[in-house]
Amino acid sequence: MPGFELFGAEEQKEVQDVLDNGVLMRYGFDPMRNGHYKALELERDLANRMQSKYAQVVSSGTAALTVALACAGIGSGDEVIMPTFTFVASFEAILSVGAIPILCDIDDTLTLDPKAVEASITPKTKAIMPVHMCGSMADLSALKAISDKHNLILLEDACQAIGATYDGKPLGSYGDLGCFSFDYVKTITCGEGGGIITNSETFADRAHKYQDHGHDHVGNDRGAETHPFLGYNYRLSELNAAVGIAQLRKLDHTLTIQEKNYTILRNALAEVPEVSFRRVPETGVENYSFLNIFLPTEDIARKAHKALGENGVDACFYWFDNNWHYYKKWEHLLEQKSLSKFSQEIQSGLQKNNRSFDASDLWMGRTISCLIKLNWSETEVTNRASKMVEALKSVLVKSVL
Ligand SMILES: *Cc1c(COP(=O)(O)O)cnc(C)c1O
Repeated sequence: MPGFELFGAEEQKEVQDVLDNGVLMRYGFDPMRNGHYKALELERDLANRMQSKYAQVVSSGTAALTVALACAGIGSGDEVIMPTFTFVASFEAILSVGAIPILCDIDDTLTLDPKAVEASITPKTKAIMPVHMCGSMADLSALKAISDKHNLILLEDACQAIGATYDGKPLGSYGDLGCFSFDYVKTITCGEGGGIITNSETFADRAHKYQDHGHDHVGNDRGAETHPFLGYNYRLSELNAAVGIAQLRKLDHTLTIQEKNYTILRNALAEVPEVSFRRVPETGVENYSFLNIFLPTEDIARKAHKALGENGVDACFYWFDNNWHYYKKWEHLLEQKSLSKFSQEIQSGLQKNNRSFDASDLWMGRTISCLIKLNWSETEVTNRASKMVEALKSVLVKSVL
């Protein structure tokens, strides 16, 4: 997955353009720029590649989610349904606009279970936020039907799944808004950065203003611009955008390498009858950034994860025990640890998350996710495949099912 593995002359050239003219900011300074508008160019490329009418780049994936929520008018006391398995940024963004993250069970897609989503809807619900974790996606047509029925916003957190498709459409472009992260460990990286895509002219118009203090971006005198509503600074710098342009051009190449490496590992593991694979919704195509497998039980999964490490297979994650990606370890959310006091409404809304999520525990307890790297040689991948099979078999032999 990490796009930094492919850094080269292309990124250097784009960054050099910016350093040559010295304009590190995306707005203003027109006479100095020598025609270079890197953030704008990245937006055009992202919208094109993602078959969306509009794209807005911002300073991080977290910022992308925050800006997207704000653009959809989500704020004080509104409830947003999100999965128990995601990076903490998803709930941070919801809380940062004053809304309430409502945790919801996942299923064997490792993202939102549509039935559990429907059961979580209340009169306060304003949005459903599926998180397409580890390269694959939620059942978007089911979630779209639910959001249409209840008049909710469907906001896709596609931070970990850029390049995957659902029903022939790039992930992120299916819902009302889609978000990407370009942080240092993501498939496309620009150091820190993020992007929002949408087909809504209204949301796009709000996004460019909101991420730049509410500036209307009319005319070319920044000091004379008006501010139709409050905004903040979530701008992406020209330097970051320059790296992103070169990286995005490599996306299809990256996906090809990932699919090749993933397929070798998957075919090898398919020979182990006790191993099964994460369900990918019917019309979905993964971006192959992770190979996600299920072991028969939590106990076996724990032992298998340990055995993989001991057998020299790095970059395999057991998210169930991880501090950042599974709700059980988010004590700052569950115990409402904040530097300032939450309103009564948010305090009681958050209480809803203090319950058990048995289905999530069952799936996550059995899941191991193996990162797919880009720089592996063919020999390295085949060796890795044998080592993985060896490690898993050694555990399974000793386990009574
Ligand atoms: C990385 C990530 C984010 C946040 O992106 P940053 O650019 O690191 O702020 C949000 N959601 C998911 C699922 C992520 O993996």
